[in-house]
Amino acid sequence: MRILIRGAAVVPKPEEGVLSADVVVEGKRFAGVFPTGEAGGEFDRVIEGEGKLLVPGFVNAHTHLPMTLFRGLAEDLALREWLEERIWPAERKLTPEVVYWFALLGLVEMIRTGTTAFADMYFFMEEVGKAVEEAGLRALLSYGIIAPTPDRIEPELKKAEAFAREWNGAAEGRIRCALSPHAPYTCGPEVWKEAVRLAKELKLPLHTHLCETRHEVEAHREAYGKGPVQWLEELGAFAVPVIAAHCVWVTEKDIDILAAHNVSVAHCPSSNLKLASGIAPVWAMVKGGVNVAIGTDGAASNNTLDMVREMRLAALLAKVRAEDPRAMPAPEALKSATQRGAAALGWAKDLGAIEEGHLADCVLLDLGAAHFAPGHDPLADLVYTACGADVEMVMVGGEILMEGRELQTLDEEKIVARCRELARKFR
Ligand SMILES: [Zn+2]
Repeated sequence: MRILIRGAAVVPKPEEGVLSADVVVEGKRFAGVFPTGEAGGEFDRVIEGEGKLLVPGFVNAHTHLPMTLFRGLAEDLALREWLEERIWPAERKLTPEVVYWFALLGLVEMIRTGTTAFADMYFFMEEVGKAVEEAGLRALLSYGIIAPTPDRIEPELKKAEAFAREWNGAAEGRIRCALSPHAPYTCGPEVWKEAVRLAKELKLPLHTHLCETRHEVEAHREAYGKGPVQWLEELGAFAVPVIAAHCVWVTEKDIDILAAHNVSVAHCPSSNLKLASGIAPVWAMVKGGVNVAIGTDGAASNNTLDMVREMRLAALLAKVRAEDPRAMPAPEALKSATQRGAAALGWAKDLGAIEEGHLADCVLLDLGAAHFAPGHDPLADLVYTACGADVEMVMVGGEILMEGRELQTLDEEKIVARCRELARKFR
């Protein structure tokens, strides 16, 4: 299959800005980016790009897809109350069927808002895997290990390992796996040590929550005499690739440690605001050499999976936190939502840019709406003006998942109806 995307405003990489170009896709990969009108040869499909913006697909570096079930269920509560009194009890009622349908619901929203790859941590992950396989996205999936008591350690690790062994490389390589001790406050040193050993053996990254709240970091200091970042470093956790979600309460020394070990941070601005966790020092981390990606977190604490909105918020919050409007300029925000996310998920060589040889994951946004006029700077318009609903075409590995805002792989009406029905049991 040879596809031409003709005459779009193209952002091959955020640092290269916007150019008017023809983009050729052959099979699963980009075959080239040419000045408009110069892509030659025969094409099986031509997608008209005039008046549209073509960017690398958005990468959501931290989410819990089936939590779409809990959107609107427990609002305006403190994190501990929200998690321990509302979310965790509701999660005990989950079944594989419910997880499957709400994963599909999340995937509908992801495609509609231009996400092409994501890192997900939850339970019943086989169901999430099945849903991803059908939807056509790329994902780094992991079973979330929560082992607050010693008797939970072995069964939890076994579940995580079995899932990773079975699903890593599934869906023609679109699915990869990670190991996920949920956080330093839900998993003790034995869990971490064993997870690191397994990650080395299976060549998998770790995906966890780190320094999300002030309370959690203070409690950790009291229990161990050091903060969670230094604690994990000393346990050897950073010897393997790591995605650390949040990192709101990190010190300058922590930032140095994260940068030195190439730890990727998944910054989740909406979730941090909604749960009043704080504002992460994003610009200090980027300047300090940390790979800062962006995540939505679960839809219960966001409440959307819209990476375009999340990118905007990340750019704005970074400026407030740094007290500098020059912090996190638009190209840097786009980089965090694409290239840095791809690197966090372990796909740095293949994803995050529109260039020859890269996997053809890209998104076309319609710039025709009034809110994009007059169009002085399409890249700034994307970061500061757009929302996910402006996305009209989504491609993953050369497969079109949405075109003309019509989903091609999922039956949206059926999924929404089934989810509304299943949700009744959780009220
Ligand atoms: Zn999370």
